[in-house]
Amino acid sequence: MRVIFDPYEMYLICEKIRLERRSIGFVPTMGYLHEGHLSLFHIARQRSNVVIASIFVNPAQFGPEEDYERYPRDLKRDMELAESNGCDFVFAPEVNAMYPKGYQTYVEVTGITERLCGGSRPDHFKGVTTIVLKLFNLIKPTAAVFGQKDAQQAFVIQRMVVDLGLDIDIVIAPIIREKDGLAMSSRNVYLKPKERKEAVSLYRSLKLAEDLITAGEKDPSKIHAEILAVLSETETVKVEYIEIVDTQNFQPVEAVITGTLIALAAMVGNTRLIDNTII
Ligand code: AMP
Repeated sequence: MRVIFDPYEMYLICEKIRLERRSIGFVPTMGYLHEGHLSLFHIARQRSNVVIASIFVNPAQFGPEEDYERYPRDLKRDMELAESNGCDFVFAPEVNAMYPKGYQTYVEVTGITERLCGGSRPDHFKGVTTIVLKLFNLIKPTAAVFGQKDAQQAFVIQRMVVDLGLDIDIVIAPIIREKDGLAMSSRNVYLKPKERKEAVSLYRSLKLAEDLITAGEKDPSKIHAEILAVLSETETVKVEYIEIVDTQNFQPVEAVITGTLIALAAMVGNTRLIDNTII
């Protein structure tokens, strides 16, 4: 496996791979890799000749009060994990290489970015789509793999790819969880012991919602109330949103059907966590 820091070098390598008519599977990440990321590498490996992961903590997707500075970073460990989990290249550019002095161009998906994480993190998705499009332009992958963990992000990227006519397959991979059900996240390292214990209530509340729906409940307001009740039993979890939406438009549904997304975000202590299920 090779680590590439220079965007132009990455571009030339990808040009050569394409000339050899080999497919490229791409997995964009912010690093501090865990099994969730590794599962994406394995999916990319299964369907591509060459696997490229990017590791880039993208300042454009963090709000001014958010954790950009303290976001966990460990490139050495990440490189070992990437190598032993099927990556051929890790692309780890410097911030200045992606946003040089004078940088002024952003790409924005409207509509489906207005609610959920887009509602509480203005400009977040603008930062995400901008960096992902820049990475797509450099690497020109055959397929790119995203996790359902960030469901809205995956659907926003899918929308961008359709709207801009990019020839890239977007694959959405299942959420990988800890043994007790907590969705794996680089941010879980921030959690203090009590917060870590209570963080599992996000998963538990979604499980309860699934059980209620399996038993025939379709009313979003009743499901919302049950989720809120589970989360309210904790001391450290403060709900940011609980949304029950259609993944086509990210608007609330009147009745839950197959394909409905139930998504939530909460502060657990000082750590913002998200989780979701697609019915
Ligand atoms: P991040 O490094 O947090 O930006 O995540 C990079 C990619 O990994 C995104 O497509 C995420 O959705 C995905 N991802 C993060 N956590 C998980 C998880 N627990 N299971 C599956 N995919 C994940």
